[in-house]
Amino acid sequence: MLSADNPFAAPSELDYELPPFDRIHQEHYRPAFEAGMAEHLDDVRRISSNPDEPTFENTVEALERSGQLLDRVAKVFFNLTSSCSTEPIRAIEAEMAPKLAAHSDAVLLDRRLFDRVHSLFERRGELGLDPEQVRLLERHHTDLVRAGAALDEAQQERLRQLNEELSTLRTQFSNRLLAETNAAAVHVEDRARLEGLPEDAVAAAAEAARARGLDGYLITLVNTSGQPVLASLKDRSLREQIHLAALGRGVSGGEYDTRETIARIVALRAERAELLGYANHAEYVAEDQTAGSVAAIEAMLGGLVSPAVRNAHEEAAELEKALIEDGHQAPLQPWDWAYYATKVKASKYDLDEDALRPYFELERVLRDGVFFAANRLYGLTFSERDDLPTYHPEARTFEVFDADGSALGLFIADWFARDSKRGGAWMSSFVDQSHLFGRKPVVVVTLNVPRPPEGQPALMTTDEVRTAFHEFGHALHGLLSDVTYPRVTMTNVPRDFVEYPSQVNEMWAWWPEVIASYAKHHETGEPLAQEIVDRLLAAQQYGEGFATTEYLGAALLDQAWHKQPAGSTPAAEDVELFEQSALEALGLSMRTVPPRYRSGYFAHAFAHGYDAGYYSYIWSEVLDADTVDWFSENGGLRRENGDEFRRKLLSRGGSVDPLEAFASVRGRRPDVAPLLRRRGLEGK
Ligand SMILES: [Zn+2]
Repeated sequence: MLSADNPFAAPSELDYELPPFDRIHQEHYRPAFEAGMAEHLDDVRRISSNPDEPTFENTVEALERSGQLLDRVAKVFFNLTSSCSTEPIRAIEAEMAPKLAAHSDAVLLDRRLFDRVHSLFERRGELGLDPEQVRLLERHHTDLVRAGAALDEAQQERLRQLNEELSTLRTQFSNRLLAETNAAAVHVEDRARLEGLPEDAVAAAAEAARARGLDGYLITLVNTSGQPVLASLKDRSLREQIHLAALGRGVSGGEYDTRETIARIVALRAERAELLGYANHAEYVAEDQTAGSVAAIEAMLGGLVSPAVRNAHEEAAELEKALIEDGHQAPLQPWDWAYYATKVKASKYDLDEDALRPYFELERVLRDGVFFAANRLYGLTFSERDDLPTYHPEARTFEVFDADGSALGLFIADWFARDSKRGGAWMSSFVDQSHLFGRKPVVVVTLNVPRPPEGQPALMTTDEVRTAFHEFGHALHGLLSDVTYPRVTMTNVPRDFVEYPSQVNEMWAWWPEVIASYAKHHETGEPLAQEIVDRLLAAQQYGEGFATTEYLGAALLDQAWHKQPAGSTPAAEDVELFEQSALEALGLSMRTVPPRYRSGYFAHAFAHGYDAGYYSYIWSEVLDADTVDWFSENGGLRRENGDEFRRKLLSRGGSVDPLEAFASVRGRRPDVAPLLRRRGLEGK
């Protein structure tokens, strides 16, 4: 039993059940997790051992009601591990991760529970359920089948072993990759070799060298094939050295070589897929996504290959010309690409992005941009609530009202970078909308805008503005949710669908009426000239041949690895050969454009949970570009459009088939042509 003074012990009494952040301290997590897991398991055991015949209420709805305490503590805890991480929080996380994984197996690998859900599933047409309830029942059935609940005891035992070894191997891949990446950093003694590198990057390189007790400069590597310093380093031989160091990660032949780990991961995933009744791991993953099958993924991505590669070759020819004019020997090499692309882009579009920042003042972007667009489209209004507790002084809370004035939920905005926050930008929730519990949503958006010096305004980059609209698109998917059951609420949709509404919301950042509302010089109030906006948009299309080709290389390589059936996955010594043959077979083996990640350092595929799922970024973007066209064809920023998108899609969460929701808005299945146009890749 959890002591009653633990703030997680009972639902919060604050408005919207906002967690009582002012009363939550680190010593509350461990006991709340322990009690929460015990309570959840009790709840589930009570359902599975119920002597009564299974009904929707005593089984499926009862599952929706189970594990409330665990849900309360987990929501707060896993938000704070990302946005307010401290040493004690990380220690609790390391301790809880394996316990939570085992807890999940204990809940899902329950044969009696599966039998009850399965018997309902078989009779789902005769139970008098509404469409959301049918969808929910199917969802729970799928969750249990995919976890292995239908397997016999010996198979479940093997499955537990596979899950355990795979979780260890993922950590091993991450740790080895970190060691390889650190070891591959390039040491430069002579300052003159850094010509072209901006001063702050030179200072960072000097600091990195000092931190390792070295003289001179150390160029550390980022996780992709491409390295940002290559865009500005003039020294061609140094560029080559850095490029080769980046591509060699994971295949060094040393102690931290990742090839053996990769081979083992791929073999075990294939075995697990076979155990669960799938042809391979990629099919296992795809089945539960909107894509549905590997064939569908390959058909969509495959259609992009030749336009992308054709454009990349055109870009390469232009860059090679610039290289020769610069007095260098052809041919263009992969390490020359970023350097000449930067030069060509700057001269083509005559754009100084830094000079635009005074037009993107954070408070204006938020109120006159992000909120303004949501008001025009959905009728929403926002009012700041200073009276509610927050988890950090920089997090601001807004109450959100619907067009008729009724309360809709809370929106927490946490904009600034700090040491305790991980990198990147994301949306999450503290409370999920559900009519079952009468709960309204509490969502949070986290960005990493550098904090301005005291008394100065925060001026955003164009990329930060785009990101703010993107993350608010996820927030709308949460705030506008109008469903009964938590399992299918808000952004609980497949991974290859979840980025779609957020990407659509990016369109409003550059919509003329919206930009006229927020993009004003923070000192003079002068609006940003449309002519500059036009150049900005045109420049965004530059280099899409390269970007699409390197992305497709990684996405289809990820599929290739996970399409291998059990028993015939490549051995460790064949990792590079396998990669090369796969890229050649796909028509993506372009000498100057390596895949965005090569196998040796492909953390998305081997550690970070995007296995056989790296394709999902562009899959979502196809839906996004097609929907942007729909808005534009129908007059853009209008309430009628917003209301329709809300009613058919945003409010439905995962309670309907996602592609059917898309089709009900668009009037047909997704078409790839708008994406090709956006990326400038259509046939010429
Ligand atoms: Zn997103």
